[in-house]
Amino acid sequence: MSVMLKVKENSLAAESRIIRRAERRRNRCTNCAKWKRDHITEVQELRGPKAGLTKSFLVCEEGGLQFNGERPRDYNRLRGHRRFVVRVEARATHLARAFLKGQSYSQVEQGARRQPHWRSVDLMVAKYATKEQLADQMYALWKETAQRIIEEHRLEVGAATLSKLEIKEREAGSLTEGQLEEMTDAPR
Ligand SMILES: [Zn+2]
Repeated sequence: MSVMLKVKENSLAAESRIIRRAERRRNRCTNCAKWKRDHITEVQELRGPKAGLTKSFLVCEEGGLQFNGERPRDYNRLRGHRRFVVRVEARATHLARAFLKGQSYSQVEQGARRQPHWRSVDLMVAKYATKEQLADQMYALWKETAQRIIEEHRLEVGAATLSKLEIKEREAGSLTEGQLEEMTDAPR
C-alpha cells in the first residue's frame, strides 16, 4: 500500500517548508533585520601572506556596520540538509509512488538530468509493491527506461551547453575584431 509513501512524501514536503522558513530567519541582518541579500557586498583584497585573495563583506547602511559576508553555520547546515537529504529522499519517494501507482516515468518527471537515489527507490518499491508489480521484471524495466531517459537528457543538455559556448566564443571573437576596426579607423 502506498498510502504510507503518500504520508512520507507529504512529511518530506512539510520538512522542506519548515527548513526553508528557518533558513530565511537566519538570513536576515543582525543589525537592521533586512534580508542580507539587500545589502551591498564589498570586496577587499587581502594583504600580507594571503595577498591576491579576496574577502567579501556585507555592508549594512543602517549602522554603517560591516559584517562578514559568510553565512552562519546553522544556515548552511539547514540548507544543505534540505537540498541534499530531504530533496533526494522526496524525489525517490515520488518516483517509487509513481511506479506503484502504475504511472510511467515520463508522466512524473520531464527534463531531469541527474539520476535519482535509486537505492532508496529500490527499497521502497521492494517494501510496498504487490506481487504482480514485482513479477516479470516490471520494476527493472521501468527503472531501465527511466535511467535511459535521464541519461539522454543529460547528454542533450551537455551538447546544448557546448554549442552555446561556441556561439559565445564566436561572438567574443567578432566583437574583438569590430573593436580592432574601430580603433584603426579612429582619427588620432
Ligand atoms: Zn543590515
